[in-house]
Order: sequence, then structure tokens, then C-alpha cells
Amino acid sequence: MYTLPALAYGFDALEPYFDAATMELHYSKHHQTYLDKLNEALKDNPELQALPAQRLLSELNTTVPEPLRLKVKNFAGGFVNHNFFWEILAPQAGGEPTGEMATAINQDFGDFLTFKAQFSATAAGIFGSGWAWLVKTATGKLQIITTPNQDSPLTQGLTPLLALDVWEHAYYLKYQNRRPEFISAFWQVVNWSTVELTCPNG
Ligand code: MN
Repeated sequence: MYTLPALAYGFDALEPYFDAATMELHYSKHHQTYLDKLNEALKDNPELQALPAQRLLSELNTTVPEPLRLKVKNFAGGFVNHNFFWEILAPQAGGEPTGEMATAINQDFGDFLTFKAQFSATAAGIFGSGWAWLVKTATGKLQIITTPNQDSPLTQGLTPLLALDVWEHAYYLKYQNRRPEFISAFWQVVNWSTVELTCPNG
């Protein structure tokens, strides 16, 4: 059975950008529910449970039997996406990437502020529930993409580098319908040192 990884910081650690009440609800209820539903969906499939959850997504259309695919896409997606999201956030973070990550962003987007503006506009423009991502393609190029619902870039053969959850549950308590304010706050809690570390393998 899969288990919920512990958060590396407290629910109130990302205040005032991400508020404690939203963080607690998001992690303890939403994230936990994706995990519970994933475990329930795979309870009769020990061979699938034995795989890293990321592989259920990268091999969704090959390894996962067709009758289970929709549940695995939604629940393994919700589980893995949130695991990843918490990892790229931290208190006293924000700022700009350095090193290889900065070089790659400058190469593919021109400069950091151009990248940030494009990512923000993409996240703001998502209709309904979904995620904005910075991903690395198979050829090593960086791209900004969106996925609906809990779909994972791993299923498209893409490596996630940075993620932003724009489901209303991620911001509605504090920001109500003001998603652009939530997106601005996100940049204050991005942990670029983690983004750089995970760059080669996602
Ligand atoms: Mn979420």
C-alpha cells in the first residue's frame, strides 16, 4: 500500500502566501483522499501496488489494465502530483533559480522574468481544475504545459520540474476567485534548490 509522505514543513510554514487552513485541508483531506482511493482501486492488484506510483502513470497505457486506467489516472495522478507539489515548496524560498536550472530557463525562454510571466499566464488561463507545469521533454527542452484534472505529465513521457495546482481547493479559502493573487503568492514559496536537484530525474 502507498503511504502519504510527511510534509517537510508545518501547515503554517508557508504563511502568509499559502495559509495554514488551506495547507492542512489540502494535505490531510484532499491529498489523503487521492491516496486512499488509489489503495482501494489497487487492492486486488498486488503486482501494481508493488510498482512506484510514478510508474503507474508513466506506464498508464501499457502496464495498467484498461478497466483500472481511469481510476489510476485520477488517483495515482492526484497522489503523485501532490507529493511532487509539496516537495518544490518551502518557507523562506522564492527568488530565482541558479546554476543549470537558470541556464536552461534562459536558453528556452529568454530570461527568468519572461518564463515567470508565461507560466503565470498559463496557470491563470486554465479553465476548470488542473495543473500548470514546467516540464523537460525527451530531448531535454523545457516547456510550460497544462494538464486537466489530475493528469500527469509522466503519462506524456515528460519530466515534471515545477508544478502549480490551480484546483479551487488549493486557494479558495484565502483567495476566493482571485486565482492570479494565488499565482503571485506561489512564486514566494517555490524552493528553487529542490527544483534544481530534481532536474535530471523529476
Ligand atoms: Mn490539490
